[in-house]
Amino acid sequence: MKRAVYPGSFDPVTYGHLDVIRRASEIFDVLIVSVLNNQGKTPLFSVEERVNILKKATEDIPNVQVDSFSGLLINYAAENNLHVAVRGLRAITDFEYELQIAQTNRKLSGGKLDTMFLTTSLEYAYLSSSSVKEIASFGGDISQCVPDFVADMIYQKYNVQKVQH
Ligand code: ADP
Repeated sequence: MKRAVYPGSFDPVTYGHLDVIRRASEIFDVLIVSVLNNQGKTPLFSVEERVNILKKATEDIPNVQVDSFSGLLINYAAENNLHVAVRGLRAITDFEYELQIAQTNRKLSGGKLDTMFLTTSLEYAYLSSSSVKEIASFGGDISQCVPDFVADMIYQKYNVQKVQH
């Protein structure tokens, strides 16, 4: 059974992430999407909320499981017998950062954890969780960025109404 982990903050999940999840789920037998509990960042959604959002957003893909972890990815991967991490690449700026992390993970894990990159679908290349949150905080339209139930939850967090045109 080929299993892989797709780690990330997913605060919250966007159509860009969901595109990577769907494509990776067609490559691997099981894809574990795992929310990183990053103490260094102040997230909009708690880890539990992000896990629940991801579960709902991926409920139609049977071989996707949702989990969370703290600390180093290589430790989480070793504990769960996972040897491939999936990451998405949008632009050159992602590449430099991702390359460094991928090489570090491979080195630190003694070659046991490799990273596989999927390039973003062009229609989602501009999408990031932070830009979605910024647009939503002003009541802007995020219907093309995240599923409707996620959009509602974001507006609720900011206590704003979607601006109607
Ligand atoms: P991070 O894990 O760096 O905190 P995210 O949770 O936003 O950030 O992203 C998780 C992974 O998904 C990263 O590999 C990121 O490059 C990728 N990703 C984010 N947005 C998109 C997108 N629109 N298209 C493809 N990949 C994306």
